[in-house]
Amino acid sequence: TLSEECPPDVQALGRSAWTFLHTLSANYPKNPTQEEKSDMKQFLGLFGKLYPCWVCAEDFREWMDRPENKLQVGSGGKGGNWLNSRERFGLWMCMAHNAVNTKLGKAEFDCRKWEERWRTGCGVGEDVD
Ligand code: FAD
Repeated sequence: TLSEECPPDVQALGRSAWTFLHTLSANYPKNPTQEEKSDMKQFLGLFGKLYPCWVCAEDFREWMDRPENKLQVGSGGKGGNWLNSRERFGLWMCMAHNAVNTKLGKAEFDCRKWEERWRTGCGVGEDVD
């Protein structure tokens, strides 16, 4: 991978983007409002359109479009209620990342550990909420 002084390649961009995305889910509310759910759905829709690695973005959109992965704001429907809580949303993000890991031939991450990795680990996460 390139030095910190060079423009990011796909790997460096990816590492930074995953840091952002998992930190986003670590800060997602435990009990989100309709507006918070709606904002997140819209944000990820746009993220999937604008992510500046076009093959990455296309595959990410395709993954998000599968019925079992679809983000839905209201209840009902056959989605997985992925936006209903931090726990669900963190798991969804972990699964999204694992889909890319699998595609790239990397080991899957154990999603039971996402919160420790991205929120509470290393004495960082003050578990206030
Ligand atoms: P990364 O995969 O960047 O992971 C960083 C850290 O996250 C790891 O060290 C680990 O601690 C943690 N982690 C790993 N897996 C998980 C998980 N499932 N849940 C929670 N934490 C985890 N690259 C391509 O070459 N082709 C693509 O099509 C492609 N698509 C991408 C799509 C998106 C939306 C994003 C954000 C990135 C994409 N990338 C793609 C980049 C790729 O995912 C990696 O970021 C890049 O290969 C660098 O990998 P890495 O081994 O340094 O660790």
